[in-house]
Amino acid sequence: MSEEYFGAFGQQNQRKAPCPECGKVTRVDTLFERIDRWHEEGPDISGLIENYVFQCRGCETLFFAKSTGNSEDYIDYYDHVAGEHVQEFIDQKSFWPALPQTPVPSWAGFNLFGADQTLHELLHSVYTAMNSNLPVLAAIGMRTAFDRTAELLGVNADLSFGEKLEELRKGGHISGVQKGVLEVLIDAGSAAAHRGWKPKDSHLATMKEILEALIRDHFVLKREVEELKRSIPSRSKPA
Ligand SMILES: [Zn+2]
Repeated sequence: MSEEYFGAFGQQNQRKAPCPECGKVTRVDTLFERIDRWHEEGPDISGLIENYVFQCRGCETLFFAKSTGNSEDYIDYYDHVAGEHVQEFIDQKSFWPALPQTPVPSWAGFNLFGADQTLHELLHSVYTAMNSNLPVLAAIGMRTAFDRTAELLGVNADLSFGEKLEELRKGGHISGVQKGVLEVLIDAGSAAAHRGWKPKDSHLATMKEILEALIRDHFVLKREVEELKRSIPSRSKPA
């Protein structure tokens, strides 16, 4: 790193970074940057900590980027095309806000807010946790959102999760198959909370789909169907 160092994102006028608003990598202006170098004498390790405030040149959104790297984190390989030995340092880059991996569905906005503000907040906490790479919190949040859903559907809040599911099935809110899948969802939330289980992205995606379907069917679609029914003129007009 002895030659001129422009930072982990290259020269200022050529920088690109993932804009959280555009949802993709865009060209950015650098509004702030600070590059700190550190060195530890004993083990003879040195490194860089870089902080940036970027502004997307497309939508003008501001976001924060951090990159860290040190003299021990590199890959060594022989480049057969160039015919030379290459040592490449690995930067750990992180962004805030991060690029959303889990977009919020349109029905989870105003429609859900109108149906129940608490459930709306809980579901959005789940999306935030998923988009912030916090899988355990996302799983626990899903269980809490399910709890609220059951309560809104008239299930006694004092019952255990298993009993709540059975109540929902008996009340015709969920099918036997959905109950089986939801048991997995609830168990996943408890496993994360009490047994240190860390759900994988694919697990979370399945859990999210089940929860979303339940909430959408009962609190968004039902209302829309009722409105639709009201808007259709009755077949036989009373005389
Ligand atoms: Zn943008």
